[in-house]
This record gives sequence, structure tokens and C-alpha cells, in this order.
Amino acid sequence: EHITVTVLGLGLMGRALAGAFLRAGHPTTVWNRTAAKADDLVARGARLAGSASAAVAAGDLVVVCVSDHDAVRAVLDPLAGGLGGRVLVNLTSGTSRAAREIAAWAARQGADYLDGAIMAVPGAIGTPGALVLYSGPRPAFERYEPVLRRLGGARYLGGDQGLSALHDVAVLSLMWNILNGFLQGAALLGAAGVDATTFAPLARTAIETVTGWLPDYARQVDDGAYPALDSTLDTHVAAMAHLIGESESLGVDPALPRFVKALADRAVAEGHGGAGYAALAELFRTPAGER
Ligand code: NDP
Repeated sequence: EHITVTVLGLGLMGRALAGAFLRAGHPTTVWNRTAAKADDLVARGARLAGSASAAVAAGDLVVVCVSDHDAVRAVLDPLAGGLGGRVLVNLTSGTSRAAREIAAWAARQGADYLDGAIMAVPGAIGTPGALVLYSGPRPAFERYEPVLRRLGGARYLGGDQGLSALHDVAVLSLMWNILNGFLQGAALLGAAGVDATTFAPLARTAIETVTGWLPDYARQVDDGAYPALDSTLDTHVAAMAHLIGESESLGVDPALPRFVKALADRAVAEGHGGAGYAALAELFRTPAGER
């Protein structure tokens, strides 16, 4: 099926997206503020449009991927009515508020809007390992799902266009916290002459162990009840003091361990000492000053 695709924005990611559509045989029209970035794609069969509005006129499915929300507005605002009847997919990283704002704008133009979050680097686009999250009207997603799957895995999250951006930051937060934990551990071990490469297999096992806890902890968070299935928060807090002590005596920065213990201390102060670790969910839900 020869669904025509338009890609607006040919940075590192936009070029990867357009390349994947081209490889899959979709007639692909591209546009970029700096036209020279289209050269390689044109050599591979893409059509270069002279303006963003000419590019939009050529595609059933319009994908935009530029630096940020302001750039999206700079590209889209002049298009106005040209998007009517089309499906616009915005794969630019942003906030849920920005996504909902563009959704409202697109609705006024008569366009269907899907907001997406790319959870992959450009080099992975077009492989099954590249996951892209989508949110917005389900019929628009389902209509173009086979085309969007040319980019990699496609996961539909729901009708609220803000959901892709929210899942994106939630997953990034998770990754940063895991990586910070690994780097903190590597710093401690490094002070004793153990290199990070030696630590990595044990770190991996620990991460896999935590992965196994997720289903039970998720249920506890959803239920708002945190029975201690394995160890209590009081037990965790005692071990956190060891982590701070080791950091201080080895001359490793104790800021992250202190923050982690301060969170758990607050939960204990609020009566969760006998509960399981997931009781910290209560702290994350509401800023300290508002409780
Ligand atoms: P680049 O910096 O490589 O490209 C930025 C693009 O935005 C260029 O096409 C640039 O045009 C365009 N642009 C910026 N400002 C404007 C403007 N005012 N008007 C018109 N066009 C503008 O970034 P990437 O391609 O790497 O990233 C694009 C998006 O993809 C970002 O939101 C990023 O967060 C997201 N993303 C990127 C990943 C990555 O690994 N690269 C991973 C996941 C998401 P010009 O060429 O003329 O400067």
C-alpha cells in the first residue's frame, strides 16, 4: 500500500524517520528549514518540497520532528488550514501541556493529531528495537499504524495526547535513577579499587531482582496499601545509614544516599516504618509542603 508520507524536520532524528519510510517503499516528501540536510534522502528517492506547506500537501500522513515545542510552532503555525483532513504525528520531545496545546490547535485546523515520544536513538529507527509511544485519537492511530511500524515498535497509550510525553519523562526518570544508583555504587567500589566493569554483572542481577518486584509493588501503589512482603521500611533505613557512612568514610559524594534516606525517614515519620518500601509512593504523590 503506497501511503504517502511527509516528514518536516531533518535533523538527526528526522532524517532517520524519513529514511525508514523510504526504505519501506512509501513515497516520502521532506522539508527542512536548512534544505541541504535533505541531500542524502533525495539521493535515496525522497522528494524535497520547497516549503513546509507544499510538503504537507504531498502527504497523507504528516510527521514533524524538530528540536522543541517552539520549533514545532514555528513550522506548523504558517500551515494552518493546509493540514485539514490529514493526520499529524508530532515526534518532537516535549511536555504533556505542549502536546495538548498542539492537539487543540490541530483540531481547529481540522486535522487529527497524534503525539509521539521516540524511545530510541536515530540509528535504531527502522529496527524492532526502536519503540515509539503514541497518544491521541485511536482511529487515526489504527489507520496509520502499519506505516508508523516502519519506524519500529509502536505502542498506543490512549486518547489523551499528553500521555506520550508523560510516559516519556516517567521512563527517563526511571532510567536516570537506575543509572545514578549504578554510578553511586561504582564510585563506592572504585574507592576500594574495584572497577565498574567488575561491578556491572552484580548490578545487572540487582536490577533484574528489582524488576521482579514490580508487579507486587505496582499493585500496592494502585491499592494504596503497602504490606511488608519482604522487609520493612525500618530495615531499609538502617541499611541506608550504612550507605551514607561508607560514602563519607571513602570520600565519595554522600548527597544521593542522604537524599534517599531523607525520603525514607519522612515516610517513617509519617508512620510507615512497618510498611514495605512501596509506601514511599505516598511521598512522591504530593509535594512535602502540601501534605
Ligand atoms: P537536531 O538538533 O539534529 O535537529 C533539529 C531539527 O529541528 C532540525 O531539522 C532543525 O532545522 C529543526 N529546527 C529547530 N528550530 C527550528 C525552527 N525554529 N524552525 C524550523 N526548524 C527548526 O535534533 P534531533 O533530530 O536529534 O531531535 C529532534 C527531536 O527528536 C527532539 O525533540 C529530540 O528530543 C527528539 N529525539 C531525539 C533523539 C535522538 O537521539 N537524537 C531520541 C529521542 C527523541 P535546521 O536543520 O534548519 O537547523
